[in-house]
Amino acid sequence: MEVTESNPPASEYFGRLTFSGDVMLKRLPPDVAMSLSNTIGRGSPLDPKVANTVAAAMKDWAIEHGATHFCHWFHPLTGSTAEKHDAFLSVNADGVAIEKFSGNALILGEPDASSFPSGGIRDTYEARGYTAWDGNSPAFLLSTTEGVTTLCIPTAFVSYTGEALDMKTPLIRSVEAVAKQAGRILRFFGTDEGVNQVVGTLGCEQEYFLVDQELFRDRLDLVTCGRTLLGASAPKGHQLDDHYFGAIPARVLSFMTEAESRLFELGVPVKTRHNEVAPGQYEVAPTFETTNVAVDHQMLLMHILKDVARKHGFECLIHEKPFAGINGSGKHINWSLSTDAGVNLLDPQDETHTNMQFLVFLCAVIRAADKHADLLRASIASAGNDHRLGANEAPPAIMSIFLGEMLTDILDQLEAGKPRKTMKGGTLDLNALSLPQIPRHSGDRNRTSPFAFTGNKFEFRAVGSTASVAWPTTVLNTMIAESLDYMAAQLEKRAGKKPTAAKLETATRALLKEVVKEHRRVCFDGDGYGDEWTAEAERRGLPNVRDSAHALPAFKSRQATSLFSKYGVLSGRELKARADILLEQYATKLEIEGRTMSSLIRTEVLPAALRTQAELADVVGATQVAGVECPDSEAELRLLVSYVSELRASVDEIDASLGTPGKDPEKHAKQLRTTLVPAMERARAASDALEARIPTELWPLPTYAEMLLVGR
Ligand code: ADP
Ligand code: MG
Repeated sequence: MEVTESNPPASEYFGRLTFSGDVMLKRLPPDVAMSLSNTIGRGSPLDPKVANTVAAAMKDWAIEHGATHFCHWFHPLTGSTAEKHDAFLSVNADGVAIEKFSGNALILGEPDASSFPSGGIRDTYEARGYTAWDGNSPAFLLSTTEGVTTLCIPTAFVSYTGEALDMKTPLIRSVEAVAKQAGRILRFFGTDEGVNQVVGTLGCEQEYFLVDQELFRDRLDLVTCGRTLLGASAPKGHQLDDHYFGAIPARVLSFMTEAESRLFELGVPVKTRHNEVAPGQYEVAPTFETTNVAVDHQMLLMHILKDVARKHGFECLIHEKPFAGINGSGKHINWSLSTDAGVNLLDPQDETHTNMQFLVFLCAVIRAADKHADLLRASIASAGNDHRLGANEAPPAIMSIFLGEMLTDILDQLEAGKPRKTMKGGTLDLNALSLPQIPRHSGDRNRTSPFAFTGNKFEFRAVGSTASVAWPTTVLNTMIAESLDYMAAQLEKRAGKKPTAAKLETATRALLKEVVKEHRRVCFDGDGYGDEWTAEAERRGLPNVRDSAHALPAFKSRQATSLFSKYGVLSGRELKARADILLEQYATKLEIEGRTMSSLIRTEVLPAALRTQAELADVVGATQVAGVECPDSEAELRLLVSYVSELRASVDEIDASLGTPGKDPEKHAKQLRTTLVPAMERARAASDALEARIPTELWPLPTYAEMLLVGR
């Protein structure tokens, strides 16, 4: 499409629907704009005096764009976002109607908290909750595809007693914790000059599937669970590797283009889009931003993908494993720390072996991933992600770090004594004069690692595609805050707070040597999908927790409780509540799947199977009456009958395992994992075997082949 007045380049409308940047500058007095932009850009505290002015300007701006309501937009522990709308319209005692939005209404909301998960933090009768304006993340205007517009104010959500009931509050606390400890490292190395503070940066890659709306609606499992509970494999999956980075189908590209322009308007800097490994699977990734903003944008991105997909006749499936036997979806989160001036603290630079500060940060992350491997694993646990982790196309459930050749070599040197050189990648000569020489990276990529150092950041790939990135990031920040605290304390103890260059170097080298020796067992550059790695990891003593019911209780351990409370991220009560909520959600999701599967099998699959059985029995009977033997058809009939009875038996087992939930969320989750999950696997195997035998006109559900051919 050509650039026209109705189709301007993205730079002209980027951020048009957010109250930041230009919009803010044009609408606020300079001092107020400056105060708010310091809050947005640098995370400095919000000045309450500016609230009334900001609220009035926001209201005018929102009304000009057609908004009638505002809402405090927050992330409760349901994993999605929540909003309670209030009209700007206000009618006074004389019946005069005006549009109003006060500073108070901007700063504080009091939604009823009783219907959100609290993990026992409050009883239902203690209903009051507060939402508090998070000035770090810009307010935005969200429109439905039908054009209803609402002013959304990002907020934190806490209980009457001040305990966090949301994802954002601990996230912000964790960013502050890790920034504070990182600041100590900078001071130790004397690189803190001109640095007001350290900020976290986050870039999230989102994978998803598209299926046709019509087919989606015909599958109860997709509608209620977001994944297919049944379905025989299509003859063609991703065996030919012809989908990854393939040409994007035109209909899909139209959808992507519209989703992107809506995201641009909302200030989400979407950068890449491409086909993923599986047919019907795609990926979108914005450029990284400060953590808090990136997290809000990630939630918005999922919302917009779903919304726009429907408009284009698709359903966007964000589930980790919509189709069995086919590549699942993840959400890689790219994590780093930087100064407020934008200096990346995980940039190794050319002569890495001399860059002691970088090596301290690197080793702090290695130490954290080893020491808190159980928490890292638990941070990504969910019913959906269980289908991905440990399955052979996804990162395994063993948490390990990929470093690449150059850094592995430096760890070797650190362990042996003084690092003396940095391996260089050199150049690649393509042996053709008309092609350029390519500077080669000093390490290859490794897609099998759950946690990889990728040049100047860590990429946590084990995160599930439906996850709110806030939680794994909170856990990561907290673990690393502890590790940086340890490193800073050790360095200060060994060399003093203002060390000489020589002292600094000796102390750092000695500490790094110890840390590398103790913790490098978590580093692994080989094939993470191979069986050898599972055996090797066991020898190294690395945990391999294969399911969420067994991973999540890590948050209830004494170490976890003291870690989160020491760094002020979550109190013991808040953390325990979260663990229970995650376990309950896991159990509830399994139960919904169990019920859906039972219903699908009883009302769709079994009747079709019995019809097929009756048809075949007729054929066998008629053939025998005609005096002809038909052993093959008889054998087929017997096989069909045996699958039907296997299906019946396993669906009875499913129903039986859906008994009354116990009071203890951990017990309940573990019980469902050991009874319901295997019963569902058995039922699926029988149903898929039947699907392969039931005539097309009798099979009641859209097939894998139909669903995966989307857009072509
Ligand atoms: P891939 O992993 O597919 O190769 P890219 O290299 O394009 O992807 O980058 C993935 C993401 O990492 C992008 O969102 C990018 O902005 C983000 N990223 C780059 N640098 C940083 C950083 N310093 N901190 C956080 N994220 C970063
Ligand atoms: Mg990636």
